[in-house]
Amino acid sequence: MKIRIDTILPEGLQIDCSIPIAEIDQSDLDVRISSDITFKGSLNPFSAGIMLDGVFESEIETQCARCLNPFRLRLSNSFKLLLTRTLPDEDEENDRSLVDQVDCEQVTDIIDLTAILREQLILQIPLKMVCSDECRGLCQQCGKNLNDGPCTCSSTPIDPRLLKLKQLFENK
Ligand SMILES: [Zn+2]
Ligand SMILES: [Zn+2]
Repeated sequence: MKIRIDTILPEGLQIDCSIPIAEIDQSDLDVRISSDITFKGSLNPFSAGIMLDGVFESEIETQCARCLNPFRLRLSNSFKLLLTRTLPDEDEENDRSLVDQVDCEQVTDIIDLTAILREQLILQIPLKMVCSDECRGLCQQCGKNLNDGPCTCSSTPIDPRLLKLKQLFENK
């Protein structure tokens, strides 16, 4: 979705849209975006540019870091982004103080909302993703998914060689 800057009126522009998955570039992503990106927000002219402000929501499909099962994760976040044609210079004190408070992005005559929302979504992807906080993961020894029940490894808690050593110590 692209918005021409000159179509934004002084009173701003309300946006309530949904970017179809097909329009989102997924070529360099480790995860898969699995639902449309919805966005509710506004574009408002500002002294230093145009303020984009709103909330997005989408869903990604990824793999659990513990049990390796694929699962879907909903991501949502509100953000503010100052879109400027030229990034303010160090000496422009007024603009500078604003720039320090919000993130800036340089734009030309057209705001590529699809690209901006894609970027915001990627920023929200956690480094380590687990299907649930209670996920038991895989057995280190046999690789069984412990969410499906205990494996037989757990019934032999001590290696036989270690058991002998243990007995030796106990007999002392
Ligand atoms: Zn898991
Ligand atoms: Zn096991």
